[in-house]
Amino acid sequence: MSDDLFELGERIAALAARINIATFDMLTLVADFDRREGWADHFASCAEWLAWRTGRTVAAARENVRVAHALADLPLTAEAMKSGQLSYTKVRTMTRVATPGTEATLLKYAHSTSAARLEWLARGWKTLSRDGELTAEEARHRCRTFSVAIDADGMYVVRGRLEPEVGAMLMRAIEAASDALYRGEDAEARPRGRQRRADAAGLVAERALAAGFGGDGGRAAGEGAGVGGGAAGSGHGVGGGEGDEVRNGGRAAPLSGSRAERYQVVVHTEAATLAERGETGRSELDGVRVSAETSRRMACDAARVAMCHRDGEVVSVGRRTRTIPPHIRRALEERDRGCRYPGCASRFTEAHHVKHWADGGETSLANTILLCRRHHRLVHEGKTRMALDRDGKAAFFTRAGQVIGSAPPLPEQSRKLPQPPAPPPDRLSNGAPRFVDTEVPLSLELEALEAVA
Ligand SMILES: [Zn+2]
Ligand SMILES: [Zn+2]
Repeated sequence: MSDDLFELGERIAALAARINIATFDMLTLVADFDRREGWADHFASCAEWLAWRTGRTVAAARENVRVAHALADLPLTAEAMKSGQLSYTKVRTMTRVATPGTEATLLKYAHSTSAARLEWLARGWKTLSRDGELTAEEARHRCRTFSVAIDADGMYVVRGRLEPEVGAMLMRAIEAASDALYRGEDAEARPRGRQRRADAAGLVAERALAAGFGGDGGRAAGEGAGVGGGAAGSGHGVGGGEGDEVRNGGRAAPLSGSRAERYQVVVHTEAATLAERGETGRSELDGVRVSAETSRRMACDAARVAMCHRDGEVVSVGRRTRTIPPHIRRALEERDRGCRYPGCASRFTEAHHVKHWADGGETSLANTILLCRRHHRLVHEGKTRMALDRDGKAAFFTRAGQVIGSAPPLPEQSRKLPQPPAPPPDRLSNGAPRFVDTEVPLSLELEALEAVA
């Protein structure tokens, strides 16, 4: 590395130290301002004033005010920040857990470890008395919240504050669902973590509904509600599986076509929308506009109710039928044993009509195939084309017409083995000494842990 780049790095580090000093000065003034209630004329709290006056969020300002006051009891921490050696991030963590009795030990640890490691230590820390913990627990319980809103794109935006045990349980479920969905898939082909979790949330919900919750509370299936416009339309309540399978709590929920009857997701659409080259008319999923192709995909494997309406009035409602009758589904499960897409074999599947029933395709073994939701989507979106022959052999093609084989050969490799990676240098590319958390002496880490125990 060139000398001037090293210099550049050092200038950045020096500025960071100056920022630490300036932040300390600001916090000192904030504590004084708050003690003298300089904010009281027009604001509800010092944090609100600080947020307004300095352009930060109220949450950040509240944390500033808290740290500012906490520093009064932690003289060593204050001194370290005042000299520029301790960052605000570390100071903030220190003030959450350190007491005058443990400050010295923790500060030594803070100096020798990363901010992230310090945070880790602090999070597991016992900071409150038994009573204090109970109060904090109650406060957490009171502010639990979970909200869902639909944004302008029709996407569901989820926000919430969950209690630790609920949050942990939710994350375990999401992880388990994500593992099940992407098991065996090579890392390159998998979507990113956030997208995987979003897919997993769908599977968690689907499996939960399939397993049921006992009793029969909840809203009734909503098909038929408010279908308007057009000479003829059909409401497609998306849901399959046997009603008694759903209600039978003792049996494991089936893996395909198992969305619960009672809590349905309802797609309202029109015959023309479902036809391959029809109008992209009405296509709504729980009131949110979705593409005609999404309606077609969901209708592939759904319960449906045909409705006729004239001048906005429903004039007749047909009997509810399933697009995939139980005997066909059983045969499909037997034949396909999971998603048929090459290399997939996910057991969470939907039945796909190779020629859609809306285009006159029949619901038979010869015209249906099990696909996981992701590959079902690929096929509907035209990114993959597929054909099924009389014997139920499926062939998949890329858009360009290339066959997607189920066991493509590996690319040719040269016989040279890859070089082993070079050992890490003692210094980082910016010239700073390499700092590894594991190099913090164990004795120091134990001391820090003991201080908080
Ligand atoms: Zn389909
Ligand atoms: Zn698949």
